[in-house]
Amino acid sequence: MFTITIDGPVDIVAHLACPASPADYIRLPLQTLDVGSRGSEACLRLAAEHGARYLLTSTSEVYGDPLVHPQPETYWGNVNPIGPRSVYDESKRFAEALSMAWARERGVDVGIVRVFNTYGPRLREGDGRVVSNFIVQALTGRPLTVYGDGRQTRSLCYQSDLITGIMAMLDARGVTGPVNLGNPAELTVLELANLVLEATGSSSEVVHREALEDDPTRRKPDITRARELLGWAPEVSLADGLGRTISWFAGILDHTTLLG
Ligand code: UDP
Repeated sequence: MFTITIDGPVDIVAHLACPASPADYIRLPLQTLDVGSRGSEACLRLAAEHGARYLLTSTSEVYGDPLVHPQPETYWGNVNPIGPRSVYDESKRFAEALSMAWARERGVDVGIVRVFNTYGPRLREGDGRVVSNFIVQALTGRPLTVYGDGRQTRSLCYQSDLITGIMAMLDARGVTGPVNLGNPAELTVLELANLVLEATGSSSEVVHREALEDDPTRRKPDITRARELLGWAPEVSLADGLGRTISWFAGILDHTTLLG
């Protein structure tokens, strides 16, 4: 059994561990399943031992390729349990089920947030997700790689907004959720490519690559519950957040070039 031991008081156990980029979790399938299952159990045990509040960062991927739009927390999802994305989706679904069982059986003060697509400075250059890929491609003059026809949608939340939501949930003792945390401003992947080209002034072209297996066709959070339970809503617009992210990447790419 995997255990975490901490001497002294523990007020909060926040379980944020997991690869979040599809490129990463598809490369690390067994580790991804482990962190959602045995990792979650170890964190829950720690919280139970110390009477701590336990926060699980779950995901919009529990909704899979959603048949309900936008997605409220009451929607049970449409997930392929054996596809390449299942290692992430199902381990997060299992982590939610495990958390609820520990809440019911052992009285742990559990809080679950479902995190939607998040972006901002300090994404890895090779993270593989859409915002970092497009920005790095645009800034280095390489083609922007759109998977499939680019009509699939996402709703992008700036990192500081997500953090405010997570902090509010940590403080909201007794609130179990799950609570969606995301920015409801929805756009297609093609629209995002064009926004990035405009904001960077890049003359990169847009190329289409094969669509990813089980890639959700649309995604947009219903954040009514977050507003009501946490008094939370995102504040940073996509234009502002993208601008800050592009400036940050421009800085590190410059630095890399100088070091190079
Ligand atoms: N995507 C894309 N080109 C890229 C990276 C991603 O077209 O270089 C698409 C991907 O197919 C998906 C969306 O952008 O439809 C968001 O992908 P990401 O990996 O950022 O996050 P996901 O929401 O899939 O976890």
